[in-house]
Amino acid sequence: MATEKASHARTKRHNKRLVFQTIYSAGQISRAGVARATHLTPPTVSNIVAELLEAGWVREVGLATSGAGKPAMLLSVNADARYLIGVDLANSEFRGAVVNLRGNICHRAVRQVRDRKGDAALSMVIELLDELRQYTERPLLGIGIGTPGLIDSSQGIVHTAVNLEWQDLPLGPLLHERYQLPVYVANDSQAAALGEYLFGGRTYAGNLVVMKVGRGIGAGVVLNGKLYQGDAFGAGEIGHFQVVERGEPCRCGSFGCLETVVSSRALVRQARAIAQTNPQSPLHALVDSPAEITAQDVIAAFRQGDPALETAVANMGRYLGIAAAMIVSVLNPQDIVIAGTLAPLGESLLKTLVQSMRERALTRLAQATRLSVSSLGDDIVILGAAALLLNQELGLAG
Ligand SMILES: [Zn+2]
Repeated sequence: MATEKASHARTKRHNKRLVFQTIYSAGQISRAGVARATHLTPPTVSNIVAELLEAGWVREVGLATSGAGKPAMLLSVNADARYLIGVDLANSEFRGAVVNLRGNICHRAVRQVRDRKGDAALSMVIELLDELRQYTERPLLGIGIGTPGLIDSSQGIVHTAVNLEWQDLPLGPLLHERYQLPVYVANDSQAAALGEYLFGGRTYAGNLVVMKVGRGIGAGVVLNGKLYQGDAFGAGEIGHFQVVERGEPCRCGSFGCLETVVSSRALVRQARAIAQTNPQSPLHALVDSPAEITAQDVIAAFRQGDPALETAVANMGRYLGIAAAMIVSVLNPQDIVIAGTLAPLGESLLKTLVQSMRERALTRLAQATRLSVSSLGDDIVILGAAALLLNQELGLAG
């Protein structure tokens, strides 16, 4: 009897999620439309919708104008029914935001990391979350975190995050204990892929790989609408794949890794050399303080036109093409999207990227993959962390 009750409750929960997901992805839909899409009976749908309306998750937004017969009342998800906190720990500043169910950003908070590591970095994460936690005009669904490193997302444990010197840190459980909210943690590039999938403003009918180029480089893989993290959570860790024999030393201890040639750090390193050796370059204006040249300075100089930088960016595109060829050969995805700090160089990167990918992968496969640049800008990991939470708590995007 108890098991029958439990299984009834499980079915009910499952159906409720299904109805909510259907309304969320449809935008606007009638009860009859939900019944058709879910194969649930109209009375079951009506009961669930009544509960969702009562709890404020869903709203009636008006009558359908087309269609034969009596016009049907349309339902839509109330985007502000719950707020979520999304956090991005991947850069030189920790960034977080309160977002609604549709990924609209309501409040932001930022902390400069300034090389804080270990416990000091953890305290800064808590400081950032304490600030965001103050915005309580809506109930919070939970917290999503995108961080560099190898993360066991099922337990919320950061196995290694080299930059932050975190080793087997139970970040998820620690934050759950403090805030008494659901907390999900994933690698930043993996989170970015989910962010692009749910909030990228495009419909991805096939599989999607996001290559995120920032201080490092990593990829996130969405297969059949679900984030694929790999059996040891390292799927998409392409940054330490060696692409240059006897290349530059990498912070992982190896040489010639992809991130030594494709990352904002690699680009800034080249820009410093250009500033010093090329008086014609717009970067030369910064020659007195080369150590302070940032990725943003380099992107600005690139836009003003600098042949030396153009060559550097074209080379980066070529190396990215090697990674893309590898991805295409293993996964044959419909879309590869470039995101991260260097995404503003997108179209220029894509030119040599596509060429280099086509030289290395089977033509038919390379032609079947669409290459593009994400429109989510610097917010992709924040939105990805929120998408992770939506995915885990409400079954959205998967
Ligand atoms: Zn490496």
